[in-house]
Amino acid sequence: MLVAKTKDNLKKCKCMSCPSYTLGCKIKNMPENMFKLLDDLDNVEHYESMFCAFEKSHCIDEDRGCLCETCPIHAEYDLHREDYCMKTGGTLAHKCLMGFDDADDDLTKQ
Ligand code: SF4
Ligand code: SF4
Repeated sequence: MLVAKTKDNLKKCKCMSCPSYTLGCKIKNMPENMFKLLDDLDNVEHYESMFCAFEKSHCIDEDRGCLCETCPIHAEYDLHREDYCMKTGGTLAHKCLMGFDDADDDLTKQ
């Protein structure tokens, strides 16, 4: 099931509390994230949080732990992965049936 790009879902997302979401990335992304909240998130292509609903981050690049499995969205949408900030995977176009979407990524080799 695709994760709906709603503000209610965004409130449940744990990414902002995650150790992988560094302070530097939060500071860098805060203005744009705030600006995009003024619009209907369904019209937003990229957002720097709730990565299972949007796509991977343009800033987070190191796995320092992931809170996805503790997130209500994870259970509600029957997600089977974590680290959505580093590997796009919650959207239909990238639905992960046999592994990660980018075959050249190191995560596929683990
Ligand atoms: S997807 Fe997982 S690792 Fe990435 S910021 Fe969210 S909770 Fe953290
Ligand atoms: S499953 Fe992970 S990326 Fe998706 S809303 Fe929850 S914490 Fe955020």
